[in-house]
Amino acid sequence: MFTAIATKEGREQALDEVNTLRETANSKRTSESLWHTWCEVMQSWDRPPMPLDVEKVGFMAASLRAGRYRSAEPYFNRARIEHIRRFDKSPGPAVLDAIRQYARAVERGTGPSRLKDALQLQEIEDYIELPTATELYTGDMQEALWPAGLVVLGSWWMTRSIEATAARVRHVTVNEAKTTVAWCLPASKTDTKALSATRTHRCHCGADQSSAQAHRHKNCPYHVMYDNIQLIAKVFSMNLQDEAFLDMPLFPTKSGLVLSHAASVRAIRAVAVKAGIPTTRTIDTTVLEKFGEHAPRVSGAQFFAAVLSWELYLIQLYGRWGSLAVARYVQDAPLARASSASKGVSIEDVMEMLKLTNPDEDIRKEINAIKRQLAEQRDEISFQAITDKAQAETRLALTRQQPRDETHEANHRRC
Ligand SMILES: [Zn+2]
Repeated sequence: MFTAIATKEGREQALDEVNTLRETANSKRTSESLWHTWCEVMQSWDRPPMPLDVEKVGFMAASLRAGRYRSAEPYFNRARIEHIRRFDKSPGPAVLDAIRQYARAVERGTGPSRLKDALQLQEIEDYIELPTATELYTGDMQEALWPAGLVVLGSWWMTRSIEATAARVRHVTVNEAKTTVAWCLPASKTDTKALSATRTHRCHCGADQSSAQAHRHKNCPYHVMYDNIQLIAKVFSMNLQDEAFLDMPLFPTKSGLVLSHAASVRAIRAVAVKAGIPTTRTIDTTVLEKFGEHAPRVSGAQFFAAVLSWELYLIQLYGRWGSLAVARYVQDAPLARASSASKGVSIEDVMEMLKLTNPDEDIRKEINAIKRQLAEQRDEISFQAITDKAQAETRLALTRQQPRDETHEANHRRC
């Protein structure tokens, strides 16, 4: 049984392996980042990071409070673990008591902890209009050609900002006969170059879908995409079949160039402003932006859950989530208001949307297997633990976002 650890090399390898399993890449990153912050703060107070004592707990709490952080617990926990690692014993009862009291002090009066950063698609529904000539040809030409189009389509396809800005017209296939539209997207955020996940939506307009014009103001993925592509062709006087047209950004700037990340975030906020949705929230005296780059991705997940009643595993599958991070967003979905696009989804729809063309028993089995797998995964990790972790990370990102808003990586990591 123990032949594998008979040699020194064998023992080291076994230890490495079990240590890798002990900490997932994600928890390792979080842990490193917490420790880094702890050390930085202690340096500002001119103290070594260890050992952990009552005074240092107070210093950390004061710094977090001054930086308008909402939670101190992850930092205290990280420092406590470091103390145990180094000294092989827990910090004394006075330190543990200080941790409890200061953790509460930091949280006191910081208001609701949830990041309300999703637009409700049904709330902007009435404002999804094609841009006017004035909007198209005046103002900053580096801004999005059609902000509402970007938000609506980004939500339906649950895109990350970088995926939407990098998309080209050629990545989308419009099938006018079937009134479906397919968009080729990266399968995961770690593989953003390879477009290997095709996600299809059909027209959600209902009975009278013969006229595209009649539905221009509605939140229909097919018709909004159709309008978006026609708009680009019209504004830049291009032929739908031209290679140059197919290479156009799917969400160009008013001058036809690739949209910058910052401009894509401004586009999201512009849509909210138009729909009369407040785009900032005030914590104490600090004004924070509510909508970040991942707003369409989160909005989409919430829309599918609350309005279209999709199950979590479908949203995860459709939105190309490699983890159950999506669970938090779905759980936070506000109570749904009816939408013109409300429609349940059948297993046949899923096959079509995921481009599963062989509608036989095998496909059903495959989907059921994924469903089972996710259900098991959910039990194992505990839904609450994931939610807690995601919320802690969110709070951290929120407070970090404050001094340098629109930091791509900080926000990007979570989605
Ligand atoms: Zn439609």
